[in-house]
Amino acid sequence: MVARLWAELDEPWREAFRQAWQALRTGNVAVGACAATFDGEIVHAARNRISDDDGPPGEIFGSSLAHAEMNVLARLPIRRHANLVLTTTLEPCLQCAGAIRLGPIATVRFAGPDRYWDGCHDFGKLSPREARRTQPTRIGPRGDELGVFATLISRFGPKLTPRFEMVMRAMGEGPLFDLVHQLQDSGEIGKLAAMEVEAALAYLWPRLRALSAATAEG
Ligand SMILES: [Zn+2]
Repeated sequence: MVARLWAELDEPWREAFRQAWQALRTGNVAVGACAATFDGEIVHAARNRISDDDGPPGEIFGSSLAHAEMNVLARLPIRRHANLVLTTTLEPCLQCAGAIRLGPIATVRFAGPDRYWDGCHDFGKLSPREARRTQPTRIGPRGDELGVFATLISRFGPKLTPRFEMVMRAMGEGPLFDLVHQLQDSGEIGKLAAMEVEAALAYLWPRLRALSAATAEG
C-alpha cells in the first residue's frame, strides 16, 4: 500500500519528502520543499538548514530563518518564472507564507498540518491593496497518513523544546508527541534515519494510520 502511494505521488511531492528526510538526518527540522512548473518540472528543491554550518550558494543556513521554503524561494532566478507550484512537506509558517506571497508562486501544496501557524497566510486582511491581489491558492493539508508523517517528522530535532511541546500538546498534538517520544526512547528514530524515506514511511505506516484515525475522531 505504501509502495503504491509513493509511486502515485508526483515527482515534486517525492522530492519534497526526500529533502525533508535529508533535513532529519542532518539534525535540522525535517521539512523539505520544491518549486516546480505547472507541468511538474522541478526548478529548485531545498530543505531546512537551521543547524547547518554551510549550504549551497544563495541558500540560508545556520539561522532560524533557514526554512525549506525560504531556501527554495531564495534560489529562484529573478523574474524568470511565474505561476510556479511550491510543494512543501509542512504547512508554511508566517515567515514562509510571506515569502511565498512575494515570490512567483501561484499555488502552494503542503502535506502536514501545522497547528502552530495555521491561519497565518491570509494577507488579504492586512490592507485594501493586498485584498485586491490574488493570493496563492493553497492545497492542503493532506488527510492521509503521509500528512501525519510530514507533521510527525517535523517535531524531531532542534525544535523539540519542552515549551514548544507544551504549546503543541495544548493545541491537540499530544498523541503525535507521544509517538515522537516513543521513537526516540526506543532508538527507532536512529534506525529510521538510516533508511530511505519511503522505507521509513512503510515502517511507520501502522502507527501513522492509528494516529490518523485518532485525529479524525478527536
Ligand atoms: Zn517557514
